[in-house]
Amino acid sequence: MRDTEWERLESSHFSIYYPKEAKNIGKYSLYSAEISYPYLSLLLGVKLKNNSNKILDSQKDRTLISKFERVPYILGNISDGAGFANPVSLNIEAQMLHSRTASFFQHELVHRLMYEHNDPPLRK
Ligand SMILES: [Zn+2]
Repeated sequence: MRDTEWERLESSHFSIYYPKEAKNIGKYSLYSAEISYPYLSLLLGVKLKNNSNKILDSQKDRTLISKFERVPYILGNISDGAGFANPVSLNIEAQMLHSRTASFFQHELVHRLMYEHNDPPLRK
């Protein structure tokens, strides 16, 4: 991976981290995720709590655990590749810089919401 200068944009629920040269796609991905979140949250019956501490509790003596106010949504600097919601960190990650439709970013958000939906006892 080449050296990257990262920038961040924030909305109510997300912090988008993107390579400096990808500001437009950074803004677009943030807008796409934020605008769809109320509907997807209602549809799936869950809210983003962004608290991965429960599943990392057993590791807290030997792992540095970060807690964020907003869900980190990271746009990688590889031109193509998969997007996913990381089941451990609970970040959303998308390895791409070329243009994508809003549904791509919303698709990854659904994966993230499914972790809350499928595993409610861990997230209480
Ligand atoms: Zn998928």
